Amino acid sequence: MSRIVIVGAGIVGAALADQLAARRDGDVVLIDRSQPGWGTSRTSFGWLNANEKQPRAYFDLSVEAMRDWRRLAREFGTPSWYQPVGNLAWVRSPQAREELAKRVDRLQAWGYGAELVTASRARGLEPNVTIPSDAEIAFFPDEGYASGCQAVQALVQRAMSFGARLITGVDVSELVVSRSRVTGVRLANEERIAAEMVVCCAGWRSPELLAPLGIDLPLIPASTRGSPAPCLTVTIEGVTPRPDRVIHAPELDLRPTGKNRLLLEANDVDVHVDITSGDNHLDDRAQKLLTRAGMVVPAAISATIVEASLCVRPLPLDGYPLVGPVSDHHGLYIAVTHSGITLAPILARHITLELLGTESPILRQYRPDRALPGIPV
Ligand SMILES: Cc1cc2nc3c(=O)[nH]c(=O)nc-3n(C[C@H](O)[C@H](O)[C@H](O)COP(=O)(O)OP(=O)(O)OC[C@H]3O[C@@H](n4cnc5c(N)ncnc54)[C@H](O)[C@@H]3O)c2cc1C
Repeated sequence: MSRIVIVGAGIVGAALADQLAARRDGDVVLIDRSQPGWGTSRTSFGWLNANEKQPRAYFDLSVEAMRDWRRLAREFGTPSWYQPVGNLAWVRSPQAREELAKRVDRLQAWGYGAELVTASRARGLEPNVTIPSDAEIAFFPDEGYASGCQAVQALVQRAMSFGARLITGVDVSELVVSRSRVTGVRLANEERIAAEMVVCCAGWRSPELLAPLGIDLPLIPASTRGSPAPCLTVTIEGVTPRPDRVIHAPELDLRPTGKNRLLLEANDVDVHVDITSGDNHLDDRAQKLLTRAGMVVPAAISATIVEASLCVRPLPLDGYPLVGPVSDHHGLYIAVTHSGITLAPILARHITLELLGTESPILRQYRPDRALPGIPV
């Protein structure tokens, strides 16, 4: 039997392990330095959408990805980790109003669920948020969110029920190369696992795994000052009543995460967070998000912060997925992407096809060694 080793049990590695193991025609080994779902996928905002995805091919991929989530969730019954609750967004500045109206027009023309709504309709949809009466408001009924960590755990459990092997709590320290072919991995405990194919699903840490092979994966480095990769998500508790949907307000993104909890994020706060940010700095930023939450959701005024997580986005330099084999490195396949919560199931479906020998035309444009800044042509 051929063996495929997947490095990284985040949403991408877990979705892939699940689909590969379901074929039951090989041996799948999934390895994580921590626990399944405890990387970026755990702290992700997890908004399932194709809302701002362009060009058309990338938009179509994301729409198809939303369908894959629906299908996947059906297979698990009605899992709490999949919530297709819709997204309510509003803006106020003249420029943002114009952009939102244009986006809704484009999305409607592309057949996507998007509409501008009145303030009273929006309040009917979400009575537990404060929406300014002068706002331009849009509703995207087919969007929603997935809780990354729980989804990963469900996928890994199912992959194991199909026969996949899970190894946790140990780093893959090295990809083993023999005669310019990747032939397996070496673990930090010196164990060596041979494989016909190694799939790198190590998220933002992938560059450090691939660099010794001379592969310069074009991800935005997390450690440079001002990098957009590191960010902050904050969980608050005690929000009753709380909104049910994904909410994008001008200064805050939020969504439910459990019964009386909300997950918060804001781009302008992320800008001031980096990988070396200490606890005091993060607490200060988290308080800022809590204050903003109180302005959007009245019940959040008395909420408390239960977790403030510094997390890192795997951000390809051009923003698009890095998926596929790499020239001159047989036995190696890479799957690293931003918007990975949305895209994981569809990428996993196409990657499974490729690993079983059929090239996916959809993935052809996302090869990791495509011409793009930071990578040799
Ligand atoms: C704040 C934030 C908001 C986001 N919002 C959205 C959103 O709204 N919608 C969306 O679709 N996406 C969103 N994303 C992006 C999305 O979360 C990521 O693209 C996705 O989680 C990446 O999944 P992954 O499996 O590639 O990485 P991870 O979840 O990080 O998994 C990689 C795994 O590899 C393991 N690993 C790494 N190196 C090694 C090694 N050497 N040996 C063994 N194991 C290793 C890690 O422990 C980890 O578990 C957001 C991200 C962030 C940070």
